Amino acid sequence: MAAATSDAAAAATNESSGGEQKTRHSEVGHKSLLKSDDLYQYILETSVYPREHECMKELREVTAKHPWNLMTTSADEGQFLNLLLKLIGAKKTMEIGVYTGYSLLATALAIPDDGTILAMDINRENYELGLPSIEKAGVAHKIDFREGPALPLLDQLLEEDANHGAFDFVFVDADKDNYLNYHERLLRLVKVGGLVGYDNTLWNGSVVLPADAPMRKYIRYYRDFVLELNKALAADHRVEICQLPVGDGITLCRRVK
Ligand code: SAH
Ligand code: CA
Repeated sequence: MAAATSDAAAAATNESSGGEQKTRHSEVGHKSLLKSDDLYQYILETSVYPREHECMKELREVTAKHPWNLMTTSADEGQFLNLLLKLIGAKKTMEIGVYTGYSLLATALAIPDDGTILAMDINRENYELGLPSIEKAGVAHKIDFREGPALPLLDQLLEEDANHGAFDFVFVDADKDNYLNYHERLLRLVKVGGLVGYDNTLWNGSVVLPADAPMRKYIRYYRDFVLELNKALAADHRVEICQLPVGDGITLCRRVK
């Protein structure tokens, strides 16, 4: 436990006290909670990059030049989402938190040609940065992008009975302090047997740090909300859950009632 905790501390603060290995690990700490960088690189190079759609690669490279690129979905998580959506046969989907659209494109490529994604973000500019790659992939027609905070949009959706239980899949990847508010609404919008994926539920490894450990400001700010979410999901019998150490942690919730 001690080693895991200090790794998480190094990742969360970007300190390099533990020598080369930890320094390198801290750089990708946001993207991988694996034991070493080498294992993560191995996965990317062996199984992910060789199979990555060329437009996903292009979007990833465009995003890499953007100052907030830390927020992007990692390539391995994109591959996971793409396969997951095909496995569950998702057709009507939603995404909260688009940024430049890497997870959005992974979703758009996975659903059928008449599938839909209701995509929400407060920032349209970043979405438009990735849009040319989405268009090139021939899947832009599946996306209905709405600019604005997601919570009022969800409430608007709930006003119409036709939207109740209508969604097969929702990917939640925006403001972590609202996840539990999203959850209450999404449980009414997703169908019974449908899936909601909450992203970043290991929050850069900070979930196992003591409260007084050094952390980057934004990590510290959202940490309590992530801890609260994880507890609440584990206690919520309206859903079956599975928390996976993919990317920064994703918790899948299947609505059962
Ligand atoms: N899924 C994206 C990453 C999302 S990053 C990818 O694969 O790259 C988080 C996004 O949430 C940011 O683009 C931010 O603008 C957006 N966001 C923050 N608060 C929001 C809110 N209240 N409603 C909708 N989007 C929000
Ligand atoms: Ca994320």
